[in-house]
Amino acid sequence: MSTANKSALFQKLPSTDELLRQPDVQALIVREGHSAVAESIRVVLARLRQEIGDGQLNEKSLDLALGGLYATVESQLHQSLSYSLLPLLNATGVILHTNLGRAPLAAAALDHVRATAGVHSNLEFDLATGERGKRDVHVDRLFRKLFDDTLPSGTGPDSRGRLSLRGSEQESSTAISTIVVNNNAAAVLLALNSLAEGGEVIVSRGELVEIGGSFRIPDVMSKSNATLREVGTTNRTRVGDYERAINDRTRLLLRVHRSNFEITGFTEQPALDELVALARRSNLPLMEDLGSGALFDLRSVGINGEPGVLDKLRAGVDIVTYSGDKLLGGPQAGLISGRAELVARMRSNSLFRALRVDKLTYAALEATLLAYVKRDYDAVPVLRMMRLSKDEIACRAEKIVSTVASTPAKSTYLKLELLDGESVIGGGAAPSALLPTRLIALTHADLNADELSARLRANTPPIIARVEEGRVLIDLRTVFPEQDANLATALASLN
Ligand SMILES: *Cc1c(COP(=O)(O)O)cnc(C)c1O
Repeated sequence: MSTANKSALFQKLPSTDELLRQPDVQALIVREGHSAVAESIRVVLARLRQEIGDGQLNEKSLDLALGGLYATVESQLHQSLSYSLLPLLNATGVILHTNLGRAPLAAAALDHVRATAGVHSNLEFDLATGERGKRDVHVDRLFRKLFDDTLPSGTGPDSRGRLSLRGSEQESSTAISTIVVNNNAAAVLLALNSLAEGGEVIVSRGELVEIGGSFRIPDVMSKSNATLREVGTTNRTRVGDYERAINDRTRLLLRVHRSNFEITGFTEQPALDELVALARRSNLPLMEDLGSGALFDLRSVGINGEPGVLDKLRAGVDIVTYSGDKLLGGPQAGLISGRAELVARMRSNSLFRALRVDKLTYAALEATLLAYVKRDYDAVPVLRMMRLSKDEIACRAEKIVSTVASTPAKSTYLKLELLDGESVIGGGAAPSALLPTRLIALTHADLNADELSARLRANTPPIIARVEEGRVLIDLRTVFPEQDANLATALASLN
């Protein structure tokens, strides 16, 4: 199209002010406010200008667009005033999917947020004395219960004093406390800064990990003002490597869980008790970034090798850091648990004030932890999803397939099959753990797998599935049973 023709088209466009004066637009302004309507008009006009500039509109199609201008402005307004953050169905089978919000919250957590956040609360107020309180007490007491009830107090591997909690004369110096910050990245930053600022931290070269692209141990270390002292090699590090690197600037021994990868083959890592013993001999704290930090024994669902928070504290690790919204199944948070006097140093660090979490997080975390205290594991959605058996999933999958098959208006293009597969935990936890599942595989006569999965994403609510080998795979492990009927309806109407 020539420039002259384009400028004729541009001249047909009304101005924002002209549109604002129209009676139907005036009525819209009364309902939705002047600035929101004016903004939508500007967006719609800018889009038309762009389309004219790109040569996508001729006189006829522009006239058509101008005829429907009011409706376009109204729908733009509707869109701009509706939510962008939406609920969806996670049919990927990845339980802790970082892009899909990691852990869905327990119903009790939502209830507790609702009850305490819409009104004032005793977040930092001691009801007994009427004086200022600390916000951590609400969850620290539950962590103490969880650790206290499970850590043995007598002799044993943890009888070296530091972590035996009950009834010992060292109680005040050996109790475990927990503090909460914004996420585990913040927990690592705060711990390193509090314990090792200006000094050296020894880490194995096999553990200089990157998690999710923006969390790299060397970067967090330099932000914390501690100096990274690398020891060993990528695949093999021995306790002697740590020992030789210790000098009078050393402040901390750090271990980092390899959350999202495995090193196999010719490998060696010091056993934890060797590192604990070295830390004791050298009078240095040992910290471990667990990443996921399970509070629930995953061995009971057949997942080995994912360290539990308790296992580590029992074994003598002085400080552990972990996420609230990974295996714990709560809100986004970073938890730091360990020897009370070390945690106290972190609490008094001004960074703690900058990284603290708000009342919503405390409420959701308190309710989630209470489920653990009561051993009500099925109340925590990620634990429930992990504990689902393949048979339970198969049963639901069969029901969905038969519901779709018996829908009179069902698409004749869509084919559903059941097959065996595997779900994963995700979120940087147990990278090699696979949970057996039963999948619904979808193929369509007219749509390829990517097109089909785009159609599912366009559903309300969006359905996110896996695409593998030219098929769309639906794993019900991560779909809430209450969502099954909705899923069946969406599948039946995929034309
Ligand atoms: C996930 C993870 C982190 C980051 O935790 P966030 O809560 O996402 O900040 C840090 N370290 C390890 C080992 C992890 O797995």
